[in-house]
Amino acid sequence: MKLGIIAIQGDVREHGAKFQALGVELVIVRRPRDLEGVAGLVIPGGESTTIGMLMQEYGLVDAVRERAAAGGLPIWGTCAGLILMAAEVIGPSPARLGLVDMTADRNAWGRQVSSFEVPLQVPVLGDRPFPAVFIRAPRIRRIGLGVTALASVDGQVVMAEAGPYLVSAFHPELTEDKRMHEYFITKVKNCSAMLS
Ligand code: GLN
Repeated sequence: MKLGIIAIQGDVREHGAKFQALGVELVIVRRPRDLEGVAGLVIPGGESTTIGMLMQEYGLVDAVRERAAAGGLPIWGTCAGLILMAAEVIGPSPARLGLVDMTADRNAWGRQVSSFEVPLQVPVLGDRPFPAVFIRAPRIRRIGLGVTALASVDGQVVMAEAGPYLVSAFHPELTEDKRMHEYFITKVKNCSAMLS
């Protein structure tokens, strides 16, 4: 199974190392043709305005939307990637995919707590808390009816899924824990099985 990662800016290498350790090949995606043959896509953390504008310029916004509409493409967006996946964004957001019915509020955890780590209860990953690292993360202010909350901090959703899409406001690629990456791999396998 091949997964793609939008490799314009952000934590590309860290995700690559995680997936490699789990036996999955991660393909660098910079142009629409790079999407060929990938079973799923990761959009890493970084700066959502930069990633979004360059994705637009390279034709990736349309290409990913078309692939998603045509046959379904599992996508996991972390932090900036979450912002790019949101249908609605509070704050500048010049270009994005808008595939998940939710409202993301950029850099909304406040100055003092703009970066923090919490042991996060994520029931779909088991009992052991997940070490969730937040770096100038967005807040999810609203999720639509078709979106399932998977974890929350202070009553605010920080991880959610909707059909083939997974979003997390934190950075699972920066910790030793591989469970989130495993979770996405399983999701991609399940989607591929349903589509074939
Ligand atoms: N603050 C960034 C943005 O709004 C996201 C930060 C991150 O991905 N760690 O795009």
